Amino acid sequence: MQSCARCGFVVYPAEKINCIDQNWHKACFHCDVCKMVLTANNFVSHKKRPYCSVTRDGSYGSNMSEMYFGAKP
Ligand SMILES: [Zn+2]
Ligand SMILES: [Zn+2]
Repeated sequence: MQSCARCGFVVYPAEKINCIDQNWHKACFHCDVCKMVLTANNFVSHKKRPYCSVTRDGSYGSNMSEMYFGAKP
């Protein structure tokens, strides 16, 4: 059985989303920072964790952006 990368419980095919080489419940596949629920089409990954593009682009402040994604050029 495959387990969810977020909560660790078994993921059944009907509720599975496979991203970043891991399995997730659809409800568990949300941004690590702001908890916005993501889909296979709108997430961004960093160090094998999912984030939304809003968080990545630094809307939470440059400190957060640098903390999670490194300083931009
Ligand atoms: Zn889960
Ligand atoms: Zn986010």
